Amino acid sequence: MAAKPPRPPRVGLVSLGCPKALVDSERILTRLRAEGYELVGSYEEADLVLVNTCGFLDSAREESFAAIREALAANGRVVVTGCLGAEAERLRARFPEVLAITGPHQYEQVMAAVHAALPPAHDPRFDLVPPQGLRLTPRHYAYLKIAEGCDRRCSFCIIPRLRGPQRSRPAAAVLAEAERLVAAGVRELLVVAQDTAAYGTDLRHATSRLGGRALRAHIVDFARALGGLGVWVRLHYVYPYPHVDELVALMAEGHLLPYLDVPFQHASPRILRLMRRPARAERTLERIRAWRRAVPELVLRSSFVVGFPGETEADFAELLDWLREAELDRVGCFVYEPVEGAAANALPDPVPPEVAEERRARLMALQEEISARRLARHVGRELAVLVDAVDGDVAVGRTYGDAPEIDGRVHLRGFDDLVPGDLVWAAVEDADAHDLYARYVEHQRPAEEAVAEASAASASSASASARGRSSGIM
Ligand code: SF4
Repeated sequence: MAAKPPRPPRVGLVSLGCPKALVDSERILTRLRAEGYELVGSYEEADLVLVNTCGFLDSAREESFAAIREALAANGRVVVTGCLGAEAERLRARFPEVLAITGPHQYEQVMAAVHAALPPAHDPRFDLVPPQGLRLTPRHYAYLKIAEGCDRRCSFCIIPRLRGPQRSRPAAAVLAEAERLVAAGVRELLVVAQDTAAYGTDLRHATSRLGGRALRAHIVDFARALGGLGVWVRLHYVYPYPHVDELVALMAEGHLLPYLDVPFQHASPRILRLMRRPARAERTLERIRAWRRAVPELVLRSSFVVGFPGETEADFAELLDWLREAELDRVGCFVYEPVEGAAANALPDPVPPEVAEERRARLMALQEEISARRLARHVGRELAVLVDAVDGDVAVGRTYGDAPEIDGRVHLRGFDDLVPGDLVWAAVEDADAHDLYARYVEHQRPAEEAVAEASAASASSASASARGRSSGIM
């Protein structure tokens, strides 16, 4: 006889306030039910209680406080949402034991908070969707979106208008998703947002709880937590705020891949000002040097826009000089295109398309020399390679320095038995401006051991190993 399936997780809801709040409650209940949660009518039966609060009048606020107090006393596992959630910090100070707090109309955040505190039951006999969700990437890597929207106002971009201001996901919810992905076989997490380094500013870096652990919605804390999962963690779209230096320190400690994708966009202070981007290019060079002193293996990727309105030949020459100094590993370059609705459209002195295209070609030719020089340093070393695809006696994979789809690859030979998702050591024999060519050496041991070994190696400041190995997790 088949075993009885475990009972579904049970949620109770206390709904306060006006009809708009009631509609919010109905929507939340609908989604909970659709995901297999059972809705119950008493504190005793519930595994978790959701309190949808109202904060319109003082009396309504008092009623909400009383409801939270009662749910905490009767059940203990409480998530608060609704109008009072807009004052999350004050509410957290008053009720520190609440599991999560989200604001009004934040359906996704409420669901994420419930998932983190009480994961939905997964029954493969009935569910068409696996617990880690449906993904379009291969099984061994996954993108982890930590926020939507953007608070910046770069003059060439309309994303803030299309997607609205930044809305970060609670740290516990994203970490819970990352844990599910790792449990499902993911070996590399690619952290993305429009402005990854600004993660959590809209939440005022509020803490949320996952399994009794308090997590702050701040990119440095969050990256450290991800680093504990024993897989590759790669950061994309990192705007160069001062606290990026702390992320580089985490790379030096082995928590993150030593890879930073920083969209610098230009180097001429005049053009950067017109773009409404940070304009201290000289200071940026100093920071790059400091990052490389801290993490000599650091791989830097960036993207640039040429032919921006008003860009003179002198501005462009400044960008080329800057690139010669910065010696970035990977660069993407785009010709400026006016996007309907972008502030930059009003700028004078457009650059003729053929001039912009010629600048792009010159920039890429220079960068190809730089990239080839940077990659050549790996020849003769052993690098950790994550295998992406195998075709007969040739496999392609990536090192810590290659993000999928946008960077280079490692072409591997000399193996007997490889499958996508394997993590192996490979001896690099040759390099060009984009790719490495390597011979298989052996499979890596489990990622946890590699992390521990690499951290110990970097802590003792010994070289990565007697064989010149670089796991990329050090
Ligand atoms: S370019 Fe990036 S940082 Fe600037 S406004 Fe657009 S999304 Fe935000």
